[in-house]
Amino acid sequence: MIIRSRPSTPSAALLRLLRERPQPAAAERCEMCAEPIGESHAHVVDLDSRALMCACRPCYLLFSDQQAHLHYRAVPERYLDFGGLTLDERTWDELQIPVGLAFLFRNSRQQRTIAFYPGPAGATESELPLEAWDTIVAANPELAVLLPDVEALLVRRERGSAGSCHLVPIDACYELVGQLRTLWRGFDGGREAHDAINAFFTRVRGRSRPHDPAARS
Ligand SMILES: [Zn+2]
Ligand SMILES: [Zn+2]
Repeated sequence: MIIRSRPSTPSAALLRLLRERPQPAAAERCEMCAEPIGESHAHVVDLDSRALMCACRPCYLLFSDQQAHLHYRAVPERYLDFGGLTLDERTWDELQIPVGLAFLFRNSRQQRTIAFYPGPAGATESELPLEAWDTIVAANPELAVLLPDVEALLVRRERGSAGSCHLVPIDACYELVGQLRTLWRGFDGGREAHDAINAFFTRVRGRSRPHDPAARS
């Protein structure tokens, strides 16, 4: 599998999202209808600006139809474990990801696949060539369940092991990247960042169910 990454500056929308992402506060509100919501709540993606909006349950459910031609889309809450599926060494080398972890997602508006990963400057984005994602999915058909815009493929490279591959909600990715931005030290992130990454993976593994190809939608 060959992926050529074209390093680019993080998109303005993502940076804005990371900056403006409200800290969990006592008086958090639905950004669509202003109803008060709890600290733990769902999110909706604005497909044009890529902004992530906090949503109450009724607003969230309004946008849960992934096939609808809507401006907003609810972020699903599923986590899937793709077992032994991993990116190969060459792919990792070309992505040049310092912490050996990246989120890949499809941007449906722009018809492109983005890899983003934490680094010294916050989130860094690489655009994958158009055919790269198709090539990955052709080699691993189970990845076709990944929904564009709202779900990401979390890939991790671990020295001495095969690494791992999970499907995660996009809001969980942004949350980790935002958290790491405040902890990052030096080139590889340092101890605190790695502790946060390990804690994140423990949560992901705990919430994931094995991907069942028979249940593919
Ligand atoms: Zn609402
Ligand atoms: Zn929120």
